[in-house]
Amino acid sequence: MKMKKLIAILLIIAMTFAFAACGNANDDQKGTSDAPTIYKVAMEPTFPPFDTIDEETQELAGFDVDLMNAIAADQGFELEWINMGFDGLIAALQAGNIDIIASGMNASKERREKVDFSTTYYDSALVVAVKEGNIAIKSIDDLTPDMKAGAQIGTTGAELATELFDEGKIGEAKIYNGLDVAVMDLQNGTIDALINDLPVTKDYMAAKPGTIEIVGEALNAESYGFAVKKGNTELLEKINTGMQNIIDDGTFDEIYTKWFE
Ligand code: GLN
Repeated sequence: MKMKKLIAILLIIAMTFAFAACGNANDDQKGTSDAPTIYKVAMEPTFPPFDTIDEETQELAGFDVDLMNAIAADQGFELEWINMGFDGLIAALQAGNIDIIASGMNASKERREKVDFSTTYYDSALVVAVKEGNIAIKSIDDLTPDMKAGAQIGTTGAELATELFDEGKIGEAKIYNGLDVAVMDLQNGTIDALINDLPVTKDYMAAKPGTIEIVGEALNAESYGFAVKKGNTELLEKINTGMQNIIDDGTFDEIYTKWFE
């Protein structure tokens, strides 16, 4: 008799917990029927026109923001935008602290071992920039061991700058958290060269004409993609389907024109 009572009480407790667990699952943003799913999307915002901060609203803005927002609207999910150092993005994705990287990230072979990339949406390349009027450096081959080259931390540009330093071709690879400061240092002569992505260096040039210029040929070929945690096929499919839909209905072109023409 006592045993039966005990079992009954234990059953009630177990069921209470089971219901409570159901309640939690329903409150969860991901997996409810009517509340929209909210994904955390991160970027480093000194990479215009892809990733920047709107001067008036002080909110994250750019080609990546408009593109990802259009994909989200098409696929019926919401986004929470997060500002993060470029070198922290992949670790944050792997740790599950964010769901998406939208940060002008080259979908390289090395990165594909750590994260999954969407269909790529922009073809880019690294270039060397110097202070306007610098006649000594006409290409990457003119860099010498008494020179300093800058790049942004965690980027393919930083990889190349570090390689040049390791090979003894430059005296220092100066690695910056933000490209805004790197460009300022190029303008004031703190560094001799900046290794950065072509469309972004062009954007900085347009913002302050006559201060810096691009020299030589493109150094590589890159393609930007949005990244999700390895194996998150559900989200990747939503992003890829949304991307195709906004390409097909002309939204992609509108956003492209807004930021690049
Ligand atoms: N394209 C470079 C890379 O993926 C730089 C990206 C960036 O600074 N946002 O490494």
